[in-house]
Amino acid sequence: VRYIILLAIAILLAPSAHADDLSAGVAIVDITPPVGYRMSGYFRERKNTGKHDALHAKALVFKQGDVHAALVFCDLIGISLEVSTQARRLAAKQTGIPAANILIAATHSHTGPLYFGALRKHFHDQAVKQHGSDPLERVDYPKQLAERLASAIEKAQAAARPITLSSGVAQETTLSFNRRFHMKDGTVRFNPGKLNPSIVRVAGPIDPEVGMIWLRDAKSEKPLAAISVFALHLDTVGGTLCSADYPLYLEKSLRETYGEKFVSLFGIGTCGDINHVDVSHKRPQKGQVEAKRIGTKLGETVVGGVKKLTPQARLSLAVRSKTVDVPLQQYSQAETAQALNDMAKIGTRQLSFLDQVRTYKITALKQRGGKTIPLEVQVFRFSDEVALVGLPGEVFVDLGLAIKRASPFKTTLVVELCNDAPGYIPTRKAFAEGSYEIVNSRIRTGGGEAMAGAAIKLLKQLHDVGLK
Ligand SMILES: [Zn+2]
Repeated sequence: VRYIILLAIAILLAPSAHADDLSAGVAIVDITPPVGYRMSGYFRERKNTGKHDALHAKALVFKQGDVHAALVFCDLIGISLEVSTQARRLAAKQTGIPAANILIAATHSHTGPLYFGALRKHFHDQAVKQHGSDPLERVDYPKQLAERLASAIEKAQAAARPITLSSGVAQETTLSFNRRFHMKDGTVRFNPGKLNPSIVRVAGPIDPEVGMIWLRDAKSEKPLAAISVFALHLDTVGGTLCSADYPLYLEKSLRETYGEKFVSLFGIGTCGDINHVDVSHKRPQKGQVEAKRIGTKLGETVVGGVKKLTPQARLSLAVRSKTVDVPLQQYSQAETAQALNDMAKIGTRQLSFLDQVRTYKITALKQRGGKTIPLEVQVFRFSDEVALVGLPGEVFVDLGLAIKRASPFKTTLVVELCNDAPGYIPTRKAFAEGSYEIVNSRIRTGGGEAMAGAAIKLLKQLHDVGLK
């Protein structure tokens, strides 16, 4: 009897080197557009004159038992619905990972290609009218991009090996600033300028959390890769050279500590109303110098946070998603005709900045069509304590904070700009206040709260269901 009890205990305590271990693989592919391809980021035509650093798509594939999932982070301003749909379909075919379990996120680099949307179509149509073909689009970049994203997932799957996972958050309070302010005239303005005497107070919070998911080789315990999520808009570099912006320096800084093979996957948090501009001083904050300052500081914060991460014992991979149909703003035929006509004035001084934004927005609405927009919310559970939420669009920070507050998981990472780039997703409060992000938003007020509500529901559903 004693022998049987000991045997039973031995079986119970035996390390579980079986199908239920979590495996992961990582891969990087180059997605830099050719020289001369249009760049995204601003309301004017700009072509790239080369690269400061290559743009990458970094794929992370997870497998536990028969559950498979993939996360891809791209150095791009956004992922178009067309490209994400095509890439997920291709990847599903090549790897067997269900398309629903694949998330494709953009870091929001403003120094990457302009390959989708109303502005790209406008410049492209103009070029075709003038030259018969578009000299700046000699390659089908969206098609190549979808193929490269799928190949990144395939490579990551092939590299999968047993891993351990730890997670937690570090605090970074010095780099990000809510960019909306109450002004003396009673309005709310975005980026009112450094030391502007008309600023009364900031209109919203930041999210100081750097959410981290850290992966180590199960055997050697060597760190392989990490997902870090931080809510800070990328637009520090400028110019005409392609660049990944500050996540480049985050990776450099992590590689100094963890070796050249370490892969840093940066997910952008909900930062629709947050950027790096500190209005309390006059110092310039632009260029690679600023990107380096931000990325290096973020790297220090991440490295400092690694020792405090919690190793996850109850690993349990699962993915749930829900598509929320959110009402779109409606414009009259006359307003739409006016906007289509005014597109020619984009990038000139004939329209004010906000009129350009409104023109672009109405044109984008017309181009996409429909009365509602499907916003896909994905939740990836890694353990009983850790989950990652993927949301489309540039999401206001209050929505991300609300998701984290309501989440039953100890650590919840919320990543924006996943799978689609339907513009800003403001809060009801911000819709009432107005300013740039609101003029640029295509959804109706309340859509952001509906999307956040769906994420919270999925998190609650996933928290206890079927934990291994
Ligand atoms: Zn932006």
